[in-house]
Amino acid sequence: MKKFQKKEENFTCDHCGTINYGDGWTDHCHNCLYSKHVDNYPGDRRNKCHGLMEPIGIIRKKEEKIVYECIKCKTRKICRSSKSDNRQEILKLLSQPVDLSQ
Ligand SMILES: [Zn+2]
Ligand SMILES: [Zn+2]
Repeated sequence: MKKFQKKEENFTCDHCGTINYGDGWTDHCHNCLYSKHVDNYPGDRRNKCHGLMEPIGIIRKKEEKIVYECIKCKTRKICRSSKSDNRQEILKLLSQPVDLSQ
């Protein structure tokens, strides 16, 4: 069962104030990579937490995925990074090993 939903919307980043133009899959800020805890499943916007999700690390397999931790409720989630993401921030995350055990 796929629960991914496409949403096209622009949003202003709560962390750095950058305006992000939604391409339908945007779920995090391309500048600072922060995301927001609004989904139970990607795109459903059903989570009531609305805490900022901090990028804490990168998993590198076939593609790069960003590991997030909500600063409010400590929920972790993993998101695909996109081509327009700030490379510098990605590299910074890659340089800090992260403990991914829940
Ligand atoms: Zn930002
Ligand atoms: Zn949360």
